[in-house]
Amino acid sequence: MHFRTLIATVASLLLAACQSGEVPAPNAPTPAVAPILTGADAADVHSYAKPLEARVTNVALDLAVDFNAKRVGGTATLDIQAKPGVKQIVLDDKGLEITAITTVEGKPLPHTVGAVDPILGAPLTIQMGDAKKIVVTYKSAPDSGALQWLTPQQTAGKKYPYLFSQGQAIENRSWIPTQDSPGIRQTWEAKITVPQPLTAVMSAPRVGEPQATGRSRQFAFRMDKPVAPYLIAIAVGDLAFRELGPRTGVWTEPAMLDKAAAELDDTEKMVAAAEKLYGPYQWGRYDMLVLPPSFPFGGMENPTLTFLTPTFLAGDKSLTSLIAHELAHSWSGNLATNATWADFWLNEGMTTYAERRIVEEVYGPKVAAQQVALGQDAMNKAIADNGGAAGDDTRLHIDLKGRHPDDGLTDIAYEKGAAFLRTIEAAVGRERFDEWLKGWFSRHKFAPVTTSIFLADIREHLIKGDAALEKKLALEEWVNEPGIPTNLAPADRQAFAEVDAAVAAFKAGTQPAPEVWKRWTTDEKLRFLTRIDKQQPKERLAALDRAYGLANAGNSEVRFAFLTLAVAARYDPAVPALEDFLLVQGRRKFVRPLITALAADKQWGRPIAARIYAKARPLYHPVTVRDLDKLGLGAPTTDQALTAK
Ligand SMILES: [Zn+2]
Repeated sequence: MHFRTLIATVASLLLAACQSGEVPAPNAPTPAVAPILTGADAADVHSYAKPLEARVTNVALDLAVDFNAKRVGGTATLDIQAKPGVKQIVLDDKGLEITAITTVEGKPLPHTVGAVDPILGAPLTIQMGDAKKIVVTYKSAPDSGALQWLTPQQTAGKKYPYLFSQGQAIENRSWIPTQDSPGIRQTWEAKITVPQPLTAVMSAPRVGEPQATGRSRQFAFRMDKPVAPYLIAIAVGDLAFRELGPRTGVWTEPAMLDKAAAELDDTEKMVAAAEKLYGPYQWGRYDMLVLPPSFPFGGMENPTLTFLTPTFLAGDKSLTSLIAHELAHSWSGNLATNATWADFWLNEGMTTYAERRIVEEVYGPKVAAQQVALGQDAMNKAIADNGGAAGDDTRLHIDLKGRHPDDGLTDIAYEKGAAFLRTIEAAVGRERFDEWLKGWFSRHKFAPVTTSIFLADIREHLIKGDAALEKKLALEEWVNEPGIPTNLAPADRQAFAEVDAAVAAFKAGTQPAPEVWKRWTTDEKLRFLTRIDKQQPKERLAALDRAYGLANAGNSEVRFAFLTLAVAARYDPAVPALEDFLLVQGRRKFVRPLITALAADKQWGRPIAARIYAKARPLYHPVTVRDLDKLGLGAPTTDQALTAK
């Protein structure tokens, strides 16, 4: 689509979507109702909702958490805006057990659940008539794809059960009956009743003090800014809190609190660095929740409360770029949000770019340059893994029709996206690029965005008719074509000069001295382990492990990099450490590649994978299990899984 028609379309969409008929000024206060886009590329193939006819604007949950039944249940009261004459609304539903849908006065409303799609779930169509508010009484299913129920044994404290959710991309429809599309922003509130003495936290400010009744306590939350529904998140457990700074703090199990607080010491500095780059932090507090080890991701940018894997706790702050990443999502992802999962790069590429800018502010240019170089290695690997330079899935704007959004969860979105933005920055200069980026977040705050909106915005506010610059940037090639355009701003070749020399020396037979290894930063160690040949003789792996203690390294990224080499070399002595690593944490980034590589090695690795996965599966979150079950390792049935160790 060309620039001028697009701007006209966006303006008319805003008009159509705002009930008052006014286009909001870029710096107007947060609207309680965010616009719905109508462009063809804003249609979400992963939701049944028809938001241009009738849409949810606010969700009010009143739920009780039942650890015995592994269900949350109660009511969801939805505020609805409908086009004149429209009498029905379509929600997304995955396995919800619905007992009633009524008006707030209690009048039953007819509703039907359509055919179930294994990826999307089913459309829930409600005849609401003229009602502007409806009440859904329901329970989540015990196998809800968003919720993981941990036994006391699976927690650090070993005394109480634990529940946490992971909504992104399309899992929240398994515990919240709403329109589960990132383009349909909703304000929300919740009352959550949990057994004493557990604490509930959510991705919104708490309202008032918890109310105790008998053996339970009720917590209340309210998010008054419209957010994409995948950003509604909950955790319930034996949780303690510690202040880190005036507006930052950490929640975790009491046994983890000291360690987590020490590792997160730089958070307040990071918030200040991010604000300097991208404008005011819009969400009030920035707190973090360090979860039990089965959390499937590194982090999840749930507003006001980032969820984090405990695997970043290295003891030396060497993996805290993860915090910079999740924090950066407070702008890219949470303020300006991909309207559909086809434009996931707008969330992740921008965030990965911003993460390194924050790291540069807080830890200096050398550390940032090294992370850019590692990122470009990861990008090149993602190109190779996704069909090479001509592979369809190496486009930034990808086609996910008929597929799960997680198929787009690759380093194309993260690292090709970041490389694209870095290339623009290099072409126009940092100052000018930063001014545009700040403007982008201000113009699109609390709004859905698409690749075509991005292109139109960059043309209007950065290129401004400069034909030579337009040609130099190769925008269309970056977003719509596979592979990496030739104008890529390359990573600094000198960023890892010492390590790269050590890689060459290792090839010639010399291993870095232990004191050199000890002096290296985590990024330098990772560069070494990912740059030496993938197929190492067993005796060389043994020598590396002897000298540096890699198979049982306390730093999870270093350990993972070594275990990857061990699997490729069929290095038996590392198998106990590999098994331990796959059983003590369930971060998808680590467990998926290792188990997949084992499973692909029919003779040596597959039996090991089957044996370990049988034990590990009950420990992993449903989103991790969903992928790994596809390997056909003889996954146990749910009943077996529950009784396995
Ligand atoms: Zn991210």
